Amino acid sequence: MNRKVAVLGLGLMGGGMARQLLGAGFDVAVWNRSPDKAAALGEAGARIATTPADAAAGAAIVIAMLADDSVSDTVWTGAHGALAAMSPDSIAIDSSTLTDIWVTTLADLAAKYGVRFLEAPVTGSRDQAAQGALRFLVGGDPATLADARPVFEAMGSAIVHLGPVGSAATVKLANNFLCGVQAASLAEAIALLEKRGLDIEQAMAILTDGAPGSPMVKGVGRRMLDRDYAPHFLVPLMAKDLGYAAQALADVGIISAMAQAARQCFVEAAAAGEGHRDIAAIVEPLRKI
Ligand code: NAP
Repeated sequence: MNRKVAVLGLGLMGGGMARQLLGAGFDVAVWNRSPDKAAALGEAGARIATTPADAAAGAAIVIAMLADDSVSDTVWTGAHGALAAMSPDSIAIDSSTLTDIWVTTLADLAAKYGVRFLEAPVTGSRDQAAQGALRFLVGGDPATLADARPVFEAMGSAIVHLGPVGSAATVKLANNFLCGVQAASLAEAIALLEKRGLDIEQAMAILTDGAPGSPMVKGVGRRMLDRDYAPHFLVPLMAKDLGYAAQALADVGIISAMAQAARQCFVEAAAAGEGHRDIAAIVEPLRKI
């Protein structure tokens, strides 16, 4: 396999991932809808492509890190999409958080071009992407994963094969379902403590040192108290993930009040002007009540 890798989508996650690949010595081409995000990577040695197809041409492996199903569809299969430009037997990897239904469809579309496909959503956030410390949840053919392993190792500290395509999307949605519900309930708990006039640091220590003190509650709780909303994970993307989780649950006959209620918190926060901020900002509309 050649060392040519393309990265499509240079947001909070994709930008860090591309930088790790450059650092590991891969020959990296990058593409992003908004070209400004590619400039620094160009200075670091990446080839800046003008379209997904331009980035993908000649690459052994193409990795997408995009907002949602619809954007993934456009970038892989739309006009100037990556799939049609890829060489037979090359590997397409989508690391975005997507539905199991879409990644299964995408795997079938890739096969029509003779392209091998892996879904590889991640746990970890902006900082882990920048440090090459993501955990990749992989669905697809184990032999394809073996061929792609050096690329995953450049971007992550753990690679977990979960089964066929669709398995990793399901686990990732379950993961973010729990994260989203925790963040939404945490925002309400913090708003309650503040409105009752408690010493907020003392009260939060009870929560973070006790049974509810998950990494999510500790990390996002700190940012809520500090009013630090520089984005690690944007509000609308958590709304998207909770919507996808609610749909996956509905597909197996579970109408999830939890996923729907948590999603509503993120949808309302975005509507209240917090859409460009970190998920910690969902506490702000509650502070204003
Ligand atoms: P982000 O910073 O908002 O980046 C989103 C990317 O999608 C950008 O490259 C953006 O391009 C592109 N995009 C959006 N709409 C588009 C369109 N219509 N056409 C073409 N490109 C479009 O988000 P992120 O945090 O990097 O997340 C990327 C994916 O990883 C998402 O699926 C997210 O759920 C998942 N994820 C995020 C985290 C996290 O903590 N941040 C963790 C795990 C998984 P522009 O720059 O032009 O807008």
